[in-house]
Amino acid sequence: MMLMSGPILTLAAQTGATGWSPSTLETLRQLQSAALRDNYGYERLAHLTDNIGTRPVGSLQAAAAVNYVAAELRSLGFEVHLEKVQVPRWVRAEERCELVEYFGRVPGTTQKIVVATLGGSGVATPGGGITAEVVVVNSLADLAALPHEKVAGKIVLFNKRFDRSMAHSGFAFEAYDQAVEFRTAGRAAAAKAGAVAVLVRSVGGAEFRLVHVGETDYENAAHIPSAATTAEDADLIVRLLSQGPVRLHLELSSDMHEEVDSYNVIADLKGSDHPGQFVIVSGHLDSWDLGTGATDDAAGVSIAMATAHLLHEQNLRPSRTIRFVAWMGEEPGLLGARAYAKEHTPEMPSHFAAIETDSGAGHAMGVYFTGDPSLAALLQPVAEILQESGAGILQDLKEPSPDLIPLHFRGVPAFAPLQDTRKYFDYHHTAADTLDKVDPRELRENIAVVAVLAYALATTKQELPRQQLAVPDWLK
Ligand SMILES: [Zn+2]
Repeated sequence: MMLMSGPILTLAAQTGATGWSPSTLETLRQLQSAALRDNYGYERLAHLTDNIGTRPVGSLQAAAAVNYVAAELRSLGFEVHLEKVQVPRWVRAEERCELVEYFGRVPGTTQKIVVATLGGSGVATPGGGITAEVVVVNSLADLAALPHEKVAGKIVLFNKRFDRSMAHSGFAFEAYDQAVEFRTAGRAAAAKAGAVAVLVRSVGGAEFRLVHVGETDYENAAHIPSAATTAEDADLIVRLLSQGPVRLHLELSSDMHEEVDSYNVIADLKGSDHPGQFVIVSGHLDSWDLGTGATDDAAGVSIAMATAHLLHEQNLRPSRTIRFVAWMGEEPGLLGARAYAKEHTPEMPSHFAAIETDSGAGHAMGVYFTGDPSLAALLQPVAEILQESGAGILQDLKEPSPDLIPLHFRGVPAFAPLQDTRKYFDYHHTAADTLDKVDPRELRENIAVVAVLAYALATTKQELPRQQLAVPDWLK
């Protein structure tokens, strides 16, 4: 990826083009400094995580979070409405795994293996559980290369290691993308090869024997139980396998209930000149069930709420409508975002831009954009203001924040704060994603970036270039 700021400054200087008057640029500066002092966002984050708690889709807490965000935004005087999203309600139950045969086992004993069922899998082990030998693979190709008899009747462990040093060098999403494939595709591949169950090494850099959960591919007709295990337990199994056969006993159950109605929360700050044009500011309200989803993604919701609060406090009326959205059902597959894009398809041309924060609340360094490369030139005056608080980088991002993917494919330019994500995957989808992982000052830095960007996009006199993309089938 390339930093766009150098050549762009020259271009903007040459054309003299800017979408903002000097007084609007001054307003952006005031918004920035107010955001850096405001504790409203952290207080909302604390309520969502400490008081409401974990918010898996379809849960009572997710419903309470919908009501809470709606009530808070209503109390600021916004027009708030709820848009229905049907969500699954999946609840984990029994999770038990132990080593029952390995070299040197003390007779009469077993060793515990820490596991957590993968989300949405809904496939239980048969009564009494499964006892089987373990076979370890590092890739789908490894698995495909094994003869049938080496896999049939066994428990397959996908042992792809998360590249922690890559993540800690600033390439966290690249490291995640490399490792996450097995959590989603591993189950179907192992079932096809005749395995009776699947374990996946935790994706992410979590230490302290924490399991990283997440969605598995449940649409594929692969009816074998699947769970994630910790990096430490995966390493133990590999070491024991180098000494002889290893057998595991595994008991998993979970309940997939009927779908329930849930909601995207939508609040509009009506534009003065173009009320029918929208700039979306968003985060997602659902979380995984082990932690309280502070960084994924109560942070994103509270950044959007804080932006609403700041604009209200400063009495600012943008020329386009700023639409605050708390998406529901990102984790099981962008359910709320896909429903919104479908429902609002005729209005997509009037969706001017969209912002989502969904990679934690680490130190903010700038703005990611997904769309036409000339967006960088247009945003240069805004980047110069953001640089006053050290957040002036403008960088092209190939794929937008997840909930903006349906909008992106319909031509809407997408934005996100550019953050320090080096530690994001150390807590992401684990029991340790809790309020203490968010630094209040860094949260405010992100609020400043999103508030300034949102108001700038909702007031610019320039049109933004839009891309003509083909909407993929899964988003239609
Ligand atoms: Zn998320």
